[in-house]
Amino acid sequence: MSDKRFCLQCDDGTLLEHGAKDVTITIDTLTASVPAVSGWHCPVCAECEFDDGEGQRYSEALSALRNLADKQRASELRLIRKKLGLRQADAGKLFGGGVSAFSDYECGKKQPHKSTVLLLKLLARHPELLGEVQGG
Ligand SMILES: [Zn+2]
Repeated sequence: MSDKRFCLQCDDGTLLEHGAKDVTITIDTLTASVPAVSGWHCPVCAECEFDDGEGQRYSEALSALRNLADKQRASELRLIRKKLGLRQADAGKLFGGGVSAFSDYECGKKQPHKSTVLLLKLLARHPELLGEVQGG
């Protein structure tokens, strides 16, 4: 095994350091730490080339956090939709995706487009704009 590896992410000659380090995963507002991940770590950008077998542990932690983030987003969408006084079918017609779109989003069957989430968050802060969106 070569004892010098460069970070392909930084791509500026930054040397990776081999060892076991905790790796932090962030999705939306959630973070999780995968303890003592063995591999080549970049001291600048935190990129990591996993040693054999370590990728599996990392992907499992990533999936778990993604599931949690999806659930959190789903319940946030439901709260906003209710705050706006929209039924699921009406929300689906208004924001696109069809009458069952919000049912699918809120039970985690499908993920809404990022623009839908952004618009809903905006309307949650400015519900007075709903009429304008409905009229548009
Ligand atoms: Zn790097």
